[in-house]
Amino acid sequence: MTEKPTIEQYLKNIEARDFQPFKCVDCGTVIAPPSGTCYSCGSNKMEWTRVSGKGTLVSFTVIHIASDEFQEEAPYFIAIVELEEGTRVTGRLQGFDPLKPEEVGIGTLVVLDYETGKSGKTYLAFRPE
Ligand SMILES: [Zn+2]
Repeated sequence: MTEKPTIEQYLKNIEARDFQPFKCVDCGTVIAPPSGTCYSCGSNKMEWTRVSGKGTLVSFTVIHIASDEFQEEAPYFIAIVELEEGTRVTGRLQGFDPLKPEEVGIGTLVVLDYETGKSGKTYLAFRPE
């Protein structure tokens, strides 16, 4: 895509299961969730980029009181994952038992995935590589 990235299009891409972060034209920093301003250099020149979908688990928490979207699946993990390209994204972590959080290791390799909430909306998720 060559048009200037917008948050609207970013969300539409997730809906289409085609995650694409922004990339700073000036310094190459990969940015997601999208921001109009580069975290690194302050530039506002953004373009679309692609990521491998591979990342490392940085942090997680267990959600017991869930939003409507995933209420029936609580408890579940919400994770922060650092993608290979350096940006950090949040999503539900699949493939582990939320009642045994001690079995989830920080630094675990995960891959980006998608899932659908109760409303039919698509969300980012992660599962073990
Ligand atoms: Zn930059």
